[in-house]
Amino acid sequence: DELRSLLLSRIRDVPDYPKPGVLFKDITPLLADPEAFGALTDVLAELCRERGATKVVGLEARGFILAAPVAVRAGVGFVPVRKAGKLPGATLSQAYELEYGSAEIEIHAEDLTPEDRVLVIDDVLATGGTAEASLRLIRRSGARVAGVAVLMELSFLPGRIRLEPTLEGAPLDVL
Ligand code: 5GP
Repeated sequence: DELRSLLLSRIRDVPDYPKPGVLFKDITPLLADPEAFGALTDVLAELCRERGATKVVGLEARGFILAAPVAVRAGVGFVPVRKAGKLPGATLSQAYELEYGSAEIEIHAEDLTPEDRVLVIDDVLATGGTAEASLRLIRRSGARVAGVAVLMELSFLPGRIRLEPTLEGAPLDVL
């Protein structure tokens, strides 16, 4: 539809970034366009309400930029999932496999409670590893997963398939 084509027209394909052979989806043109960024924020805030979310989790780093205004607009809290070693308080950690090697992400344990229903927001679903690990963190905190929302999915990568079992029935929305 109209919104979708507006958003997609504001995403720039950058060949060979960050390394040769990778086609990077750059969202900075979208962020620089107040109409597009505002429309995206409105749609995600509406999704937040539909899913009955009480918290929005943003995944470092572009997920922060998208999720924070959504949380404010929807009137719910924002919780960052960060790369290991960045959060100063007591954390839960989750390691996950990358194409080469592994990574680890963390959340402040006290930011989520068993009463929370959490919507996870990120810009791009690639292999699905980051989103999968974030769902594990959320469940380990005792909270429930209300859904995952991403701007784009790299459809040549099996992100959705990897993520599917960990969703445990929670919806995945790709705008
Ligand atoms: P995954 O764990 O799904 O393989 O990778 C997803 C993470 O890497 C997301 O946090 C996303 O921001 C980042 N990412 C991977 N590929 C791209 C890309 O082409 N464009 C952007 N903007 N982010 C990417």
